[in-house]
Amino acid sequence: MAGLAQIGAKHVAKGVGRFTEMVMTEGKGSYIKTECGRNILDLTCGIGVTNLGHCHPGVTKAAQEQVGTLVHGQVNLGYNKPYLQLIEQLLPVMPHKSLDSFFLWNSGAEAVEAAVKLARHATGKQNIIVVQGSYHGRTFGTMALTKSKTIYGAGYAPLMPGVFTTPYPYWHQMGLPHTTSNDELVENALYRLELLLKQETAPRDTAAILIEPVLGEGGYIPAPKGYLEGLRKICDDHGLLLIIDEVQTGFGRTGKNFAIEHYPTVQPDVMIVAKGIANGFPLSGICSRKELMDKQPAGSQGGTYGGNAVACAAGVAVQRAFKEEKILENVEERSKELFGMLRGLQGDATVGDTIAEVRGLGLMVGIEFKSPTDPYTPAKGKVPAKMASRVQNKCLEKDLLTLTTSIYETIRFIPPLNISKEDMAKACSIIKESIEEVVR
Ligand code: PMP
Repeated sequence: MAGLAQIGAKHVAKGVGRFTEMVMTEGKGSYIKTECGRNILDLTCGIGVTNLGHCHPGVTKAAQEQVGTLVHGQVNLGYNKPYLQLIEQLLPVMPHKSLDSFFLWNSGAEAVEAAVKLARHATGKQNIIVVQGSYHGRTFGTMALTKSKTIYGAGYAPLMPGVFTTPYPYWHQMGLPHTTSNDELVENALYRLELLLKQETAPRDTAAILIEPVLGEGGYIPAPKGYLEGLRKICDDHGLLLIIDEVQTGFGRTGKNFAIEHYPTVQPDVMIVAKGIANGFPLSGICSRKELMDKQPAGSQGGTYGGNAVACAAGVAVQRAFKEEKILENVEERSKELFGMLRGLQGDATVGDTIAEVRGLGLMVGIEFKSPTDPYTPAKGKVPAKMASRVQNKCLEKDLLTLTTSIYETIRFIPPLNISKEDMAKACSIIKESIEEVVR
């Protein structure tokens, strides 16, 4: 291990967890440079954050200007100007006009907690329902809401009480073969939720259902349309709020400003945003109806740094870039190329049999491999063990950074939304070669 990485190995808390020991020194567009001189094509965007690429010129310029103007305009003292400018930009792109009141915070997990606080206060009820496989963060409150891997909560109990889990319409979690139709999965999952409300948490005690429109850490699984529609109906029938966590899916990631736009009849009561909102600056928030938000007494939400002026100025520049740089058009084109390559592999004589599913929306794309120990994804031939991490390591050897996700054999691809055609072609050929090399 060379240079500064030694300090990392000795002095950085193990609890953080790292895929590599590389020291990142520079980021430009779709590439990251390391201390050892590697130039790595980044298909992670720092877990869906630098959606416009590293050091996007417009965002960098806006942040630099703001640093020289006002860094900390504390929100309990008044408004800082970029905070208001950002809301002005966001209002017209909200998926529903009803989402007209905002609270800005720092991280995704904090915003999730803010949404739970809002739901409890506004409804006067305490229980929250989440889906199996969900990820909402690692703070004390959000550990209780996260159901993707036990590592996030194990050993930290007692966690926040009042959290109930319902199965997600995904074959592994329903205990059904992976060929089960979406309609059947949806019907079963909604039935299980109705049972939960009858047997474990009564509607009169339940404040909200909290869900990611595309399960992120749980495996990059878009919610079937019928499922979200069913949740909306159950919420309406029983007086629950529907909280949509767009932390990873928001700001163009799925090909629309917000993933919930893929479900036009599903209106969220509360929406949570973070990550891509400011392209790398710590900023998050919740938005809801003013009538709901105003039920909370002044001073009961917030803290010192929330809605930082520099982060908000970066957020304004992100919105400007979306208007000026045809980002969503690029997502559509590059998404077709990435899905085209992966679906082509599914039909390939050598590697096709190792792939259980290719799924996602826009540039939030996952590939789940079969596993020799998994009864739900039987293969005709022999499938290597631990495909996901082996393919991920092969990609990295070829200077392509990817992420795995979920407890199953899944790799996720989160490229910059403005990645060029050439870089997408390069990424596609590295992914294909890496899978072929692992299978061979
Ligand atoms: N919700 C979702 C859907 C996420 O993907 C994440 C982060 N991966 C979070 C919440 C938590 O965000 P943060 O890491 O900023 O606390």
